[in-house]
Amino acid sequence: MPIIIDLAKFKHNADFLIEKLKKHNCYPAFVTKVFCADKKMVNVLENTDCKYFADSRIENLASYAKSSKTKILLRLPQKSQIKETVKYADISCNSCIEMLSLLNNEAKKQDKKHGVLLMIDLGDLREGVMYDNLEYIDAYYQQVELCSNLFLAGIGANLTCYGSVLPSNDNMNVLANLANRYEEKYHKKLQIVSGGNSSSLLLLEKNMPSKINNLRLGESLILGLETAYSTQIPNMFHDCVRLESEIIEVFEKPSYPIGETSINAFGEKMTYIDKGIMKRAILAIGRQDTICDGLTPDDKNISIVGSSSDHLIVDITNSAKSYAVGDKLTFTANYGAILHLFTSKYIKRKYING
Ligand SMILES: *Cc1c(COP(=O)(O)O)cnc(C)c1O
Repeated sequence: MPIIIDLAKFKHNADFLIEKLKKHNCYPAFVTKVFCADKKMVNVLENTDCKYFADSRIENLASYAKSSKTKILLRLPQKSQIKETVKYADISCNSCIEMLSLLNNEAKKQDKKHGVLLMIDLGDLREGVMYDNLEYIDAYYQQVELCSNLFLAGIGANLTCYGSVLPSNDNMNVLANLANRYEEKYHKKLQIVSGGNSSSLLLLEKNMPSKINNLRLGESLILGLETAYSTQIPNMFHDCVRLESEIIEVFEKPSYPIGETSINAFGEKMTYIDKGIMKRAILAIGRQDTICDGLTPDDKNISIVGSSSDHLIVDITNSAKSYAVGDKLTFTANYGAILHLFTSKYIKRKYING
């Protein structure tokens, strides 16, 4: 049960986003976490003219340590990983003042200049210093100034993650104003003013403040989706990654369980609808490999019935094809499903058009 990765489609998506952002004087940081920094996919991105690679996990940044791109650690560093942070990230997203001296000491040891990107919380309430806490923000800037081996690479915000808050001209202006305020006060230009993730793409077309010069893009890159409303971006591919899975049983069976029911293998109380006799196929893939509800069969006349750790049951009653054991079904997958497919050690990767 491999995933099939179309490297040409992936390259198209990457180039498309670079061009789209360029029109607004904005540059993407390509986020590699959803595909676990797959080597071949990273290599495709390496050959685009994007400037930045970003990931929340050090292991992924370390895997492309030789890349020529500037590497950004997205998740705030762990105190226990300061050494690796400085070693593998050129820039790290940060919010705590106390981290600065740790990063600075380590950067001195490694004889490096490490960039910090101060995360500003614009209301989504995940990471970042609250946008109106100017006292803290100023203290942060001052502390960076005192650290000889650190520099302020930029400021950034994350939206539509925890709090589901949409990027808007208003909240982006708050970020833009903070950037202007820094630049006027310190007479330095900020390299990065990062206005969020794939949920900021629609605003870019409308009225994104021109000060925003960076977006960190993961889901749009791999799925061609803007994530404010989860809509398909025209002329981008949704199916760079497909799952292929093999049929291990086909039977006509009742659709309603027989006997007294309790809970399923995952402790869930399920409701079953009696649809009469159904032609069902079982596929050799399950919840250990992916989020089965996030899969969409390419055969539109097939629907997913249920799943357990290692099995996926589909209804093939209405399919025009007559499937048999050994046949393969293909699926597209949503963000969560893709994340798990790449993380599962049981899923092989097949590359096409590379
Ligand atoms: C994962 C992540 C992103 C990428 O988000 P997408 O919605 O996949 O584009 C951007 N910023 C941070 C901080 C992240 O953790």
